[in-house]
Amino acid sequence: MRQPIYYVNGKFVQAKRAALPLNDLGILRGYGVFDVLRTYDGVPFRLRDHVERLKNSARQIDLELPWSSEELEALGRETLARNDYANANIRYIVTGGPSSNFMTPEGNPSLMIMVTPVPPVDETPYTKGCKVTTTYMVRERPTVKSIGYIGAIMAAEQAKRAGALEALYKNERNEVTEGTRSNFFMIKGDQLITSAHEVLEGVTRRVALELAPPLFTVLQRPIHYCELRYIDEAFITSTTKELIPVVQIDDIPIGDGRPGPKVAQLHRRFQEYVRQQVSMAESPEKQSLVEPI
Ligand code: PLP
Repeated sequence: MRQPIYYVNGKFVQAKRAALPLNDLGILRGYGVFDVLRTYDGVPFRLRDHVERLKNSARQIDLELPWSSEELEALGRETLARNDYANANIRYIVTGGPSSNFMTPEGNPSLMIMVTPVPPVDETPYTKGCKVTTTYMVRERPTVKSIGYIGAIMAAEQAKRAGALEALYKNERNEVTEGTRSNFFMIKGDQLITSAHEVLEGVTRRVALELAPPLFTVLQRPIHYCELRYIDEAFITSTTKELIPVVQIDDIPIGDGRPGPKVAQLHRRFQEYVRQQVSMAESPEKQSLVEPI
């Protein structure tokens, strides 16, 4: 087994030797952004979307990046190739870099890329559904994938103590926006509904919305907490979770309290799309033969 290798500021280093100077603004002030994607059969899934979101997050916090999308993609692929995992998560982290007065960015951001194995999947939430809790939280910059997850960590731990897999955020209007590390969807009849405001634009969310049209009418609008009693199905999405059916929100059972057929149908479609993407990446000549899903 090869030693895990990370990329840190221009060098590929053993994970245990990876380090940042303590005057980095990421450490001192939480000034930084990140993004995470995964591979399927060794092929990075929607790499371009993740790199673009990373750049967009950085732009929104005035953190100027000296790397092009192509350079960021190539560095991610190179870090992946230097490791030896059947499937991996690729985590890009960009911070404000060293600051001599511990506050002012000096135009030298730090870039780290961590490649880690995808942990074994627990199938239970996919087959039995999961419980989630809700908590009041208004994120200051919801469209930025900031490294600051204090509220998220506290909410996720609280959810765990309540036997839940995830905590969903509710805003001051009692609207459910998203989870600590996921987007939230509900299904009512043939409508697929998800919030478009005060959420991170998840890449999995985007793919789910792309794949939804033949199965659902898609509505992007606020979701009020009071509506949850009257919906048929619900699910959360994220890069590492794909689609997980939600069968209970706080003390509210969703549908008949078991995963419903529509989430399962959309998840199958998602997995089929992933297989198609992997197969096209492995043999690009197939591209013209495969009927796009
Ligand atoms: N919303 C938040 C706040 C997140 O942190 C995440 C992922 O970590 C998501 C949504 C889901 O995004 P993605 O599907 O790109 O993983």
